Amino acid sequence: MKNNKNTETDLEFENRIRPQELDNFSGQDKIVDNLRVFIKAALMRGEALDHVLLHGPPGLGKTTLANIISHELGVGLKVTSGPVLDKPGDLAGLLTNLSQGDVLFIDEIHRLSPIVEEYLYSAMEDYKIDIMLDKGPSARSIQIELMPFTLIGATTRSGLLTSPLRARFGIQCHLEYYDAPTLTAIVKRSAAILGIDIDDRAAEEVALRSRGTPRIANALLRRVRDFAMVKGEGHIDLKITRYSLDALNIDTRGLDMMDNKILTTIIHKFGGGPVGINTIATAVGEDAGTIEEVYEPFLIKEGFLKRTPRGREATPRAYEHLGIARPADTQTLF
Ligand code: ADP
Repeated sequence: MKNNKNTETDLEFENRIRPQELDNFSGQDKIVDNLRVFIKAALMRGEALDHVLLHGPPGLGKTTLANIISHELGVGLKVTSGPVLDKPGDLAGLLTNLSQGDVLFIDEIHRLSPIVEEYLYSAMEDYKIDIMLDKGPSARSIQIELMPFTLIGATTRSGLLTSPLRARFGIQCHLEYYDAPTLTAIVKRSAAILGIDIDDRAAEEVALRSRGTPRIANALLRRVRDFAMVKGEGHIDLKITRYSLDALNIDTRGLDMMDNKILTTIIHKFGGGPVGINTIATAVGEDAGTIEEVYEPFLIKEGFLKRTPRGREATPRAYEHLGIARPADTQTLF
């Protein structure tokens, strides 16, 4: 819309479009259905919900789900993250301030320090925490009882969680990349909330180029709105959408720089594969675990990459997308 002010900060924008109820959380149907049951059961028993681990690539809705869970439970939410909680005292402070049934959300939980993690074990299991007072010969520990609470941990790298920590989460959910129809619905919902006038085909185009990720879809919607306001009449149609996304250098299939780097490396340096994940990681300068948990699932889902027993292989679709000619198929006749 022409008179739509574009002054909101990222945070205000996020807050306005972040779904608050499970009903408004699109996609991830299995997770949503299960959470609905667990939340209802916890409410019926009047107990704290079991601890929840949300894992999956960035921008797929882990923080959003944590907000929704506390909202649906009707309890308070405290938010922190693994790297911020570097001393056991910080954790103790947070835990002792929780009221009955509250949710403590720890983002990037794989980055907790081992000492803090150790303290978390008894807090999660028995709602108790032992705190050391003083140092040296006068050191003694006191035990503090905590209110029953729910820990929600989020991680993009579940492979880095220690098994004792992982085992303490009664509910574990793996978030998947979103398909285009679901992302289209998310774009349309955000547009409606923000009063942005967008065609169905334009919303679909934004969805297709968002790497299966709601955060990217919402960010692109904002940028396209800018172009529509300045270069057009404010209304977002397919033409202005394509124009804006091309101006922003957004890949036509939603791939980001690292996705493209991985594919071109496999093709140019390793003859299209098969090549081992560690070799790819070294060649592109990224951690092998990150490639495996963050990049690869999307490339496989979209049919650009294949996992074979001998390593990763670029598919014909990857060659086509990158505009690289495939080596002539060699046929061996026996
Ligand atoms: P994560 O914590 O996994 O990195 P967030 O929960 O911060 O991701 O989500 C990023 C953005 O995407 C938020 O603005 C949120 O509103 C939106 N979003 C995520 N998942 C959904 C969904 N299923 N439906 C609608 N919007 C979503």
